[in-house]
Amino acid sequence: MQEYEAIIGIEIHVQLRTNTKLFCSCPAVYTDEVNTNVCPICQGFPGTLPVLNEQAVKLAVRAALALGCKVNSTATFSRKNYFYPDLPKGYQITTCEHPIGENGIINIDNRSIRIRQIHLEEDSGKLIHMKDESLVDLNRAGFPLIEIVTEPDIREPKEAYIYATKLREILRYIGVSNADMEKGELRCEPNISVHIKGEPFGTRREIKNLNSIKQVEEGIRYEIERQIYMLKKGKTIRRATLLWDEKSKITKEMRRKETEEDYRYFDEPDLPVLCIPHSLIKEQEKQIGELPDDRRDRMLKQYGLEKKDIDILVSRKALADYFEGVMKNSNNVKLTSGFILVELVGFLNERGIKFENNPISQDKLSEIICLMKDGIITRTVARNLLPRISERGSPKQLVKQLGLEKIEGEKELESIVKNILNKHPDEVSRYKEGKSGLFGFFVGEVMKTTRGKANPKVVGKLLKKIIG
Ligand code: ADP
Ligand code: ZN
Ligand code: MG
Repeated sequence: MQEYEAIIGIEIHVQLRTNTKLFCSCPAVYTDEVNTNVCPICQGFPGTLPVLNEQAVKLAVRAALALGCKVNSTATFSRKNYFYPDLPKGYQITTCEHPIGENGIINIDNRSIRIRQIHLEEDSGKLIHMKDESLVDLNRAGFPLIEIVTEPDIREPKEAYIYATKLREILRYIGVSNADMEKGELRCEPNISVHIKGEPFGTRREIKNLNSIKQVEEGIRYEIERQIYMLKKGKTIRRATLLWDEKSKITKEMRRKETEEDYRYFDEPDLPVLCIPHSLIKEQEKQIGELPDDRRDRMLKQYGLEKKDIDILVSRKALADYFEGVMKNSNNVKLTSGFILVELVGFLNERGIKFENNPISQDKLSEIICLMKDGIITRTVARNLLPRISERGSPKQLVKQLGLEKIEGEKELESIVKNILNKHPDEVSRYKEGKSGLFGFFVGEVMKTTRGKANPKVVGKLLKKIIG
């Protein structure tokens, strides 16, 4: 049996978060009404001249530095010529031939994926396909993009998943992009080939139209199997660009791949060579801050939480910042992380609020946690307070006003427990016959009548004492 091996390299396009487009002053907003954020430059009128957006260069340099690239002191713009209705000029301006950064690295688990280069270029417009016709929206035309190209270092579909996830995390941390794949802010195009172990690499095929990182993994897995199947049948694999079909979960051939010569690259005559001064690089280095991997290591040591909890916290900068902010006052790792990850995240999810828009301030949350820590309120009450404290005064006052202090006195609770049991004689006898699951029902009823104020531990103890 011959053993096959897969080789994967990934090209990722990322929209940069700038106010305006790369070569004109149109707002870089693609969600507005179609063809409203356009001007003669980004519509490709003859005689117009591009003017480079400095902020885009800064963000590209920041990304290159964060990915461990060497930043070149000059970059050159070229024209990549091709015809497509969403590209009014007939060429794309790109620095792909003389990129901004080179030779970077991303570590995934115990392996390193080399980044060949990162270059700055402009986005194309968008085609909107209708039943009998296609329309062009140029709002996106001229958006600043960076393209990040890896060496063919990835071997498994899962590694591609981890790579893309890590890359997205870094880009969001350093604030260069929202990098939301569903919105097309991050587009991931893997190249895949297969060969018999020990022999030279095979011919690669590229997959486009992958709309989530999960689909990247699925698409690669499908393509590897398909190529192995073809090779086993004695077929040759030809260079091609494939489209991922999300519904049927297969790849379909879109076009035979152009070779690089087809693009007739030449230097862009309307833009000078881009010089990247040392001061700009220094300035961007300072903007990077703590990167996710370093933060994971530090937080693991500092808080002694489980790795899986640290992973969730660090995966989103806003979440990790919030946790660390709350911790300064609450000073209780277990309560703080548990409450944020379960109760607060649950509360926000129910309302469809992104963590970045969390309405509950760090001060208020640490006050709630201190109230729990000091045994003044139960976790249930704390959870129920969340919807109310975003508008009104301090949690402490609210607890007083609404009389939400924890009930712990055994005497007081005993009469409440007895009351509940008297109300549910059927359940009690079924419980005594062995339906032990009803225990939770009784606890729940006590919680309901006390509006969550009863100390669940005491309630459990009393229930056991009374009904055995
Ligand atoms: P081109 O010059 O045609 O643009 P590149 O050499 O730039 O091709 O490679 C584009 C992408 O394909 C890179 O991410 C690279 O790592 C990947 N790649 C190159 N060779 C292979 C291969 N044999 N199998 C899979 N991916 C490959
Ligand atoms: Zn414009
Ligand atoms: Mg290339």
